[in-house]
Amino acid sequence: MKVIRQLHDSLSNKIAAGEVVERPASIVKELIENAIDADATDILIEIVEGGMESIRIVDNGHGIPSDQVETAFLRHATSKIQNDRDLFSIRTLGFRGEALPSIASVSTLTVQTSTGTQGVELTLHGGEVIQRQPSSAKKGTSIVIKDLFYNTPARLKYLKTKLTESGHVSDVVNRMALAYPAISFHYTSDGKTILNTTGNDRLLQVVAEVYGRQTASMMVPIEGKSLDYTVSGYVAKPELTRASRQYMSIFINGRYIRNYKLAQAIQQGFHTLLPIGRYPLAIVKIEMDPTLIDVNVHPSKLEVRLSKEEALGDVMTTAIKEVFSQETLIPQSPKPV
Ligand code: ADP
Ligand code: MG
Repeated sequence: MKVIRQLHDSLSNKIAAGEVVERPASIVKELIENAIDADATDILIEIVEGGMESIRIVDNGHGIPSDQVETAFLRHATSKIQNDRDLFSIRTLGFRGEALPSIASVSTLTVQTSTGTQGVELTLHGGEVIQRQPSSAKKGTSIVIKDLFYNTPARLKYLKTKLTESGHVSDVVNRMALAYPAISFHYTSDGKTILNTTGNDRLLQVVAEVYGRQTASMMVPIEGKSLDYTVSGYVAKPELTRASRQYMSIFINGRYIRNYKLAQAIQQGFHTLLPIGRYPLAIVKIEMDPTLIDVNVHPSKLEVRLSKEEALGDVMTTAIKEVFSQETLIPQSPKPV
C-alpha cells in the first residue's frame, strides 16, 4: 500500500497553476483584476514576445502592506473575502487567493509594492522567495514575470507563436478596458503601443479605441431595467455584423463572462435583422445583486451561474429590440465619425 500524504505547497500551487495559468493572457487577466480590486485608476501592461519573455503590470492602486507581501503568495490567502456570506455575495473580481501563488510557482516573479509609506520589493523563483529589499514608497504595485513555465515543460511547449499569445493578451486587455472605461489602460507589446484609453468614463470612446472610430460611429446605446437587473451598453447597427460570436461581450458586475443563453438573448434582440451566419457586435453590461450570481464555478471565473438567467435574457432582448424599433422611425443619414 502506498502512503497517503498531503502534497507540499509548492506542488499543490503548481497543480492550481495548471488551472489558473494557461498562458500569458491568463496572467495578464489575473494581474489586471488585482489592480482593479485595489482601486487603481491607471494600469500599465507591457508584454515582450507575446508575454513569453516578460510581462509587466503596473498599477496605482492601494498597494500591499510591507508585512503582508509574503502572505499574498500563500495559497488561498486573500483580503477579499472572510466568511461564507462573503463568498455568496462577491463584489470583487478576485476572491480565491490563488493567482499570485500559482503564477509565482511557474515563473520568476518580482513584485514591488507600497501603500504610500515604505515600499518593499520581493522576488520569487518557482514560488520560493529569493530576495527581499526595501523599495520606492510610491503608492501602487508593479509585478514583473519572467521565465514563465520554466519548470513545467509541457505547458511551455503548449505555448503558441508570439503572435497568437499577444493576440490573447490583447483580447484580455480590450475587454478589461471596455469593462472599465473610468480606468486608464496603457498597453504595449514589444515596446509598441497597442491600446491607450483615457479613463474619462466614456464607453463609446473605449469602443473607438478598441474597434476603431468607424465601428464606434455605427454603435447605438441600449438601456434596460427590471427589478433585478440594469442593462446598458452599445450594439452595432445590423448593417455591421461579424462572422463570429466573439464580438458579443457580456459583463456582469464588471466581470467579462461567457454565456451561451445570454449571447442568444442578444441575437434575439436583432430578430430577423441579422443575416444567417452573421453575429452582432455588442457590449452589454449588466449590474445585479451579487447574491443572484455564483462566480465560484470555475477557477478562471469565465463561466458563472445565474439564478434567473431567462429573466435577464428577456431584459437584454427587449433593450436591443427597442433601439431598433426606434431606428426605423428615424430617417437614416450618414453620421460623422
Ligand atoms: P485574490 O485576488 O483572489 O484575493 P490573489 O492571489 O490574486 O488572490 O492576490 C492575493 C492578495 O494579494 C489579494 O487578496 C490582495 O490583498 C493582494 N494583492 C494582489 N495584487 C494586488 C495589487 N495589485 N494591489 C494591491 N493588493 C494586491
Ligand atoms: Mg486575484
